Amino acid sequence: MMLSGKTRQMSLVACSSQTFLKLCQTPAVCLAQCNMSRSLNTRQTNNSSPEGYSGRKYVSKMYQNLGNVYPESSKLVCKSHKLFLYASIVQQCYFGGYNLLPLGQRVQDKLIKIIDQELESIGCQKMAMTTLAPAKLWKKTGRWDNIGHELFRLTDRKKTDFCLGPTHEEVITNILASGPMLSYKRLPIKMYQITKKFRDENSPKYGFLRGREFDMKDLYTFDATLEDATETYNSVCQAYSRILGRLGLDYHQVIGTTGNIGGSLSHEFQLQADIGEDTIHVCKKCGFAANAETEEAQNKHCTDKSCGLSISPSIEVGHSFLLGTKYSKHFDAKCKDRQAKNGFYQMGCYGLGVSRIMQACVEVLSSEKKIVWPQIIAPYQFCIIPLESKKECLSIAESISDDLNTNPRLSGEVVIDDRDKQVTFRLFEAKAIGYPYVITIKDKALQDQPEFEVIDTCNNESRFMTREQIQNLSMLIETV
Ligand code: ATP
Ligand code: MG
Repeated sequence: MMLSGKTRQMSLVACSSQTFLKLCQTPAVCLAQCNMSRSLNTRQTNNSSPEGYSGRKYVSKMYQNLGNVYPESSKLVCKSHKLFLYASIVQQCYFGGYNLLPLGQRVQDKLIKIIDQELESIGCQKMAMTTLAPAKLWKKTGRWDNIGHELFRLTDRKKTDFCLGPTHEEVITNILASGPMLSYKRLPIKMYQITKKFRDENSPKYGFLRGREFDMKDLYTFDATLEDATETYNSVCQAYSRILGRLGLDYHQVIGTTGNIGGSLSHEFQLQADIGEDTIHVCKKCGFAANAETEEAQNKHCTDKSCGLSISPSIEVGHSFLLGTKYSKHFDAKCKDRQAKNGFYQMGCYGLGVSRIMQACVEVLSSEKKIVWPQIIAPYQFCIIPLESKKECLSIAESISDDLNTNPRLSGEVVIDDRDKQVTFRLFEAKAIGYPYVITIKDKALQDQPEFEVIDTCNNESRFMTREQIQNLSMLIETV
């Protein structure tokens, strides 16, 4: 990776606004509903473990620390950073270093599942490299001296130098060089890890968007020929598109800078945002898209003024490089090609900023006061809020939670906010956290034909629904 020195959301939201409305208006008669009524009639008792754990999750027992940093009064300039602190997604430990709190951890785990699924679908294998990287390996490529201050360096008791891995081209190439020489028949090899990376950034900024330690997915590929490596490169770029597409993000794949990583071809995956530290040139007419720093963007800008070019700030969330033999040469990492000749591996490397994506999607999808997650990675899909003054409301909340939990895709996806606080207060907090659906259990829930208020927090719509309609809605929710 590069050590630089330098909404369409709703279309993929599992239940669109229209579907939400329709579900509220039409009687429940679909097949999905029939399946559900079955589970409704058999009240769930089988989610209790021998220890008596019911599978129900209560907000009163969860670590949340809302109210520490109020979004509006905070001096922080970046919306998503304020929201992340306010909603207890992260907590600052030191300048540029953040603790990921339980709600944030759930989001990250889901994002990682999507990344794993898409990379496994193109034959990538997951692994993990050491965090400490010996200086010896970094000296082989010259990067130990070239990178400068961004590298965190340390020395052990025997005076051996190490760095905290900011990226792992040296370490992975050394793995391939140390093993047997592979024939083209066994290629491409595609190995990736999702681990902490360390970079002593000149100006850490905006929380998870530019940290000094952060989670990154880094994939490295090894082919016998440049042609094969280009094919691999394209398949990874397509997987990246699928990952960002499943998050419902309106991203741009632009021609990227190669910086100090080198290589012949590079693309960045960018999300347009006012606070973005990159600038991209995108033309809707001809499809041209490039980082402003590339020669391509500068030439296009000068020569083609008739184009519908727009120039906007944006956040880089992913970067791919076709490296060629830049690293394999230094390590003498070789394979056998189709003519049985030995040649250096043709490599590619591909980074996705896991921490950065989590916050960048909130930056582009949310309003100032509440988080809107890509629904598929929201920490929990449902929050149920029972009226604090009536005990029966809590039992109803528990039974709706149990019903929703019978759907395997929603198992564990429901929290009950049982705190002894006003419904309006709890609703405000639930919206700030960004649970896609909030169900309030109030007086109407106690009548003969009980109804429950269901709030679609992303679209700011609220409707009264029967239990069956709630089950119908739940069948449409996509989870990972
Ligand atoms: P930038 O230009 O923003 O510094 P980079 O070109 O140095 O990024 P790469 O080395 O290609 O980034 O790293 C791969 C991905 O890791 C980036 O696309 C980005 O999403 C993420 N990333 C890089 N640096 C940071 C950081 N300091 N904090 C959080 N995420 C980062
Ligand atoms: Mg950088």
